[in-house]
Amino acid sequence: MEITLIGTGTGTPSIRRNPACVLFRLGDKNAVFDSGPGTLRSLLSTGVEHKNIDLLFYTHLHLDHISDFSVILFAAKIPPEIRKNPLYVYGPTGLKDYHKKIKALYGDTLSADSYKLILEEIENKELGIEGFTILTKTLEHHGGGMGYRITAPGGKIAVYTGDTDYCEAAVELSRDADILIAECSFPEEMKMKGHLTPESAARIANEAGVKKLVLTHMYPICDNYDLVSACEKAFKGEIIVGEDRMKFELKQEVLL
Ligand SMILES: [Zn+2]
Ligand SMILES: [Zn+2]
Repeated sequence: MEITLIGTGTGTPSIRRNPACVLFRLGDKNAVFDSGPGTLRSLLSTGVEHKNIDLLFYTHLHLDHISDFSVILFAAKIPPEIRKNPLYVYGPTGLKDYHKKIKALYGDTLSADSYKLILEEIENKELGIEGFTILTKTLEHHGGGMGYRITAPGGKIAVYTGDTDYCEAAVELSRDADILIAECSFPEEMKMKGHLTPESAARIANEAGVKKLVLTHMYPICDNYDLVSACEKAFKGEIIVGEDRMKFELKQEVLL
C-alpha cells in the first residue's frame, strides 16, 4: 500500500499546504480520498493525471474536502482527454443528494456520457476493493463526517480520519493501525469543537495503539507551533508532521 499526502491544508489558503487530499495506491488503482480545491493540479505535481483517478472516497461534504468532485467530473468531459474508464465514488450519507444538486446546478457539463459513474453511500459499512478492505465509521464533526480504515491484503492497516473531534469511534477505527493519518486543525490553545489538536490526535493514536501518527489538515497557524512536542505528551510512537507530496509505503514483512 502506497500513500501520498496530496494536500495537508484546509479551507484557509496556505502557500505551503493544499486543501485536503490523500492518494492511496490500492493494487493498480489510484484511490483519491477527499478532493479539496486545487486537487487536480496537486495530483498532477505527483504525476497522477485526472483521467487516471479510479476511485474517489469522501469523508464529508465540506468544500475543503469535496469541492473538486465537480471539477473532476467537468475535466472528464474536456477533449481530447475524455474519460472512458469507470469512476467509482464513495462517501457518507448525503453524497447522492450532493451529486444531484451539483448536476442540477451545472447541467450537462457534469454528465457522465462517455464513462460509467458509480456512486455509493458507505457510511458505517465495509467494502472490498482489489483485495483491500475498506471500513468506514461516523466520527464527530459538525455537519457529519466519517473516517476510513484501509486494510491491505497482507494485513497492514492505514486509517484516515477526515475531520473529527476526539471520540471513541475514532479510537476504535484506528485500533492497531500501522499508520494513522489524523487531522490536526489547530494548536491546543485554539482548540475548536469538531476538530483535533496535536494532543487529542496523539491521544487517539495512543489509546488505539497505532505505530505511526501522521498529522494533516493543518490550518496555517499550526505552522508556528511545535506540533511534535505537543503530540509527545500523549503518544510514544513515531510522529510525523505531514507535508504535501510526502510519501509512505506500508510493506508486508516476508516471513522466512
Ligand atoms: Zn469539515
Ligand atoms: Zn476540513
